[in-house]
Parts: sequence; C-alpha cells; structure tokens
Amino acid sequence: MQRQVARTIHDYEMFGGEDRLLLGVSGGKDSLALWDILTELGYSVDGIYLHLGIGEYSSESLQLTERFAASRRLEMRIIDLPVDYGFSIPQAAAGQSRSACSVCGLSKRYLLNEAADGYDVLVTGHNLDDEAATLLGNVLTWNTEYLGRQAPVLPAVEGLVRKVKPLIRVAERETAAYAVLRGIEYEVEECPMVAGNTVNRLKERMNLLEEQSPGVKQQFLFGFFERGAEHFGAGTKPELGSCLSCGGPTTGAVCAFCRVRDRAIRLPEKGDA
Ligand code: SF4
Repeated sequence: MQRQVARTIHDYEMFGGEDRLLLGVSGGKDSLALWDILTELGYSVDGIYLHLGIGEYSSESLQLTERFAASRRLEMRIIDLPVDYGFSIPQAAAGQSRSACSVCGLSKRYLLNEAADGYDVLVTGHNLDDEAATLLGNVLTWNTEYLGRQAPVLPAVEGLVRKVKPLIRVAERETAAYAVLRGIEYEVEECPMVAGNTVNRLKERMNLLEEQSPGVKQQFLFGFFERGAEHFGAGTKPELGSCLSCGGPTTGAVCAFCRVRDRAIRLPEKGDA
C-alpha cells in the first residue's frame, strides 16, 4: 500500500516534501489509512474534518478522527457545518430537488477548498473503487463536463486549490485491510443518508465485473486517464467568475453552495409561517 501510494505521488507529480498538505479526513478507512501512509512516507500532513451534522454518524466519525490524530500527534481542524454555516446536510437535503449525496458532495468540495486556503495541495482519500464507479456513472450519462474534470490531479486555478488523489491505485478492500493491520479504528457504519447514492450502486456493479474479470477496474480507470480523458478537454481550465454572495469561484452568478445554504436556512421560516 505504501509503495503503491508513493508510486502514484511520483508518477503524477502530485506534491513534494516542501508542499503544505491538507488532507480531508472523514473518520472512514480511506482517509485515515491515507493519513497514516503519508505520515509513514515522511510527509507532514494536516487534517480537516467536516462536521456535516448527520446525527450520531457525524459525532462518532469525529471522535474516531480526533482519536487517530491525537494518537499520532497530527494537526487537525474541524469545520462544523451547523455551527459555522447554520445548517446541516439533512436540513439542506430536505429542501432540495437534488439527492442528499449531491448536496453533501458540493458542500464538501466548497468547504474543503475554503479550508485549504494557505496550503499548496488538498489531498483526498478517493480510492480505485470510488473513481472507477464515478467514471462509469459519467460515461453512462455522457456527462462530458465531468469526464473532462476527472483526473488524479486537478491543477490550481484562480480560487481553486490544487487537488490530488494518491489512493487511486488502491481498492477499497485493501484500505480496509490496511486499516485493520495498522490498528486504525475507523467508522464502520454507513452514513444513514446513503440510500440512493448512485456511486455506491455502481460500485456494486463494478465489483461483479471485477469478480468475473479481475483487473477490470484498473483497466477502465487508467485506460481512461491514458487514452480517454484527452477527448473530453482534460486539463483545460474552467472559466470561473466570483460568486455574488461569498466571492468564491463559480461558473454562475451565485455558487451552488450559497444557493443550497440560502435555501436550507430559509426553509424553517417558511414552515413556521
Ligand atoms: S453518504 Fe451521502 S450524505 Fe452521507 S456522507 Fe456520503 S455523500 Fe454525504
């Protein structure tokens, strides 16, 4: 695992020893295993935990992350969505036509990017299964915009920090095994809002294909990076303006996070009336 991650960092020139690294940590096996691996490889990495306000699940994940960081004396910050922004993911999801996971995903991207201000690189724990399933979803819907943005490294552009995914060669089962072998306690419960998560459904399908044709996930994902991505404008910089509400990067007038937040905060008032 450590060699695979080191090779991925090297091959995709993700970062060097001088870079200031921030890792998004969720309390799950992938991000904690990656924190452990990067530390073992000699990198100094701070963690950022996003408290999404998903009941017990969020509280437990936070405890596990704090315990991990304390046991290794790692620096960790917390962004508390309900406290800092006034709404939780369940609240936001209740008022949207989007799925809970879509609202959650865009919120996490926004908050992680904000948290990474002052860092050179934002590191995430997306693994082979996550990326192969996401790619399959984007191909099934021919979402050419997302296909053009799926890459092991997303370079920094105005307002957006550089993002890297060092776990893309490692399967979910391997990060689980690594965590157990390294004595890492991680959140084993699934998020209660996961029902309807498209990526999870596609992961199950990909696992069936992998059983019949071992290696197919790797071939699919890395074949895309090597021979497919260029056809979807990979590497072209998105044209971004500034959000009228928060000033963050956006392709529209007001960014998706501000629209979600405004709607979530306004909802209870509507109910009261
Ligand atoms: S399952 Fe969905 S709602 Fe739950 S943490 Fe993951 S993305 Fe967010």
